[in-house]
Amino acid sequence: CGVFGVIGVADAANFVALGLHALQHRGQEAGGIVSHHPEKGFNSAHRFGYVRDNFTKASLMETLPGPLAIGHVRYSTAGSKGAVIRDIQPFFGEFSMGGCAIAHNGNLTNAEALRLELIERGAIFQSSSDSECIIHLMARSIQKHHADRIADALRRVEGAFSVIAMTRTKLIGVRDPLGVRPLVLGRIGDNGFVLSSETCGLDIIGAEFVREIEPGEMVVIQDGRVESSRPFGPSKGRFCIFEHVYFSRPDSIISGRSVYETRFQIGVELAKEAPVEADLVCPVPDSGTPAAIGYSHQSGIPFALGITRNQYMGRTFIEPTEQIRNMGVRLKLNVNKSIIKGKRVILVDDSVVRGTTSRKIKEMILDAGAAEVHFRIASPPTAWPCFYGVDTPDRNKLLAARMTEDEMRDWIGVNSLKFISLDGLYRAAGESGGRNNACPQYCDACFSGEYPIAPSDRIAHGFQM
Ligand code: 5GP
Ligand code: SF4
Ligand code: MG
Repeated sequence: CGVFGVIGVADAANFVALGLHALQHRGQEAGGIVSHHPEKGFNSAHRFGYVRDNFTKASLMETLPGPLAIGHVRYSTAGSKGAVIRDIQPFFGEFSMGGCAIAHNGNLTNAEALRLELIERGAIFQSSSDSECIIHLMARSIQKHHADRIADALRRVEGAFSVIAMTRTKLIGVRDPLGVRPLVLGRIGDNGFVLSSETCGLDIIGAEFVREIEPGEMVVIQDGRVESSRPFGPSKGRFCIFEHVYFSRPDSIISGRSVYETRFQIGVELAKEAPVEADLVCPVPDSGTPAAIGYSHQSGIPFALGITRNQYMGRTFIEPTEQIRNMGVRLKLNVNKSIIKGKRVILVDDSVVRGTTSRKIKEMILDAGAAEVHFRIASPPTAWPCFYGVDTPDRNKLLAARMTEDEMRDWIGVNSLKFISLDGLYRAAGESGGRNNACPQYCDACFSGEYPIAPSDRIAHGFQM
């Protein structure tokens, strides 16, 4: 998901709509905005579909007045899959000290247990979302200020969270102690501040990047001042390395490093680790493109756009059901036959998950007359599910959980298949010494099986780490 908030500008909701539009790649099912106006109070709108199809209409934006607003773009990882309007964030709660809206990116790993406990103590849940727990936990806190109630609530949840909240006068941002999901702070105008999942959300509204919210940090912004605190005590971050590979936009900056640069370097590392003689390097668009450029650069093999992506389709994997996903490949990708015919082709993609996409792409490339197909993957084999906000399927559906690399190669049906090593991925992300195995710099659980936060709900359902 993507979260975005603005304080201290006229008609903040318009800025939030633009910010969410820039974060649309983080969630395409639905979006919501809550605003606050000194006289008109809190207002909200929750809509299915793209931001641009909803939050550009003057008639809707006029209903979201005020100098303070937050918003959310949703992609379902927890809660019900598909269309339920009640699951669209931001969520809102009335407290004795006034209303508060929250928007959450990430996934809580103990939300099921918390939900049961809260329902037994009288909470009335409105949605199937894990994030709603935060509002109910806030309601049970005895603190006098919203921010302290948010801190109380977040001390009880486990998992990954970058949370943006707003009261009548404050914009609040928090990152979980490991900082698994991103969150950045920006400035706009004389007195305005912005919180965004990624820096590309700042760029679109001309906000100036100030800094990242640190892992375990809370910021409370009011009247042009930013107050920082550490509600969870000191912590060392374990940022999601898959944000670098796939999830974040290539023009975003993470820890001072452009995501594009990391993806390019992944291609460079891949070309060093897994060279092969071929005529063309082609990306599986768009997620494989920067790595393919890096592979071509390092290997000297020409880069070509052998596959064209239909720009009007969303990211396949973000579509919530397997059926839609299966149709998606053909609707979204087409091979450029005149380029591919007779050529030995290196295909670069970001990840192999179920393997079904890779298999279909291989078929399309062979149908187009390719002489050989070599797959190069910009992440290590995805052998473990993510419980922190990326929608990987159950372990038994992951190709790499069931097969060796050679078996995967034969199942997909390509001449060769190679994945970047975990160390190579860390080097590409700027860790020149590779992965520090005693104390890894990133979360890489979907590749290593080393979960930095025990997924307690899943363990209760029999998941074995
Ligand atoms: P596969 O056929 O292996 O399931 O799909 C791999 C390709 O689809 C990659 O290009 C990746 O971007 C995308 N993809 C499909 N499903 C998923 C998913 O559930 N999680 C992730 N991380 N990527 C997926
Ligand atoms: Fe990111 Fe993978 Fe960790 Fe999930 S398990 S947070 S996708 S690195
Ligand atoms: Mg892809």
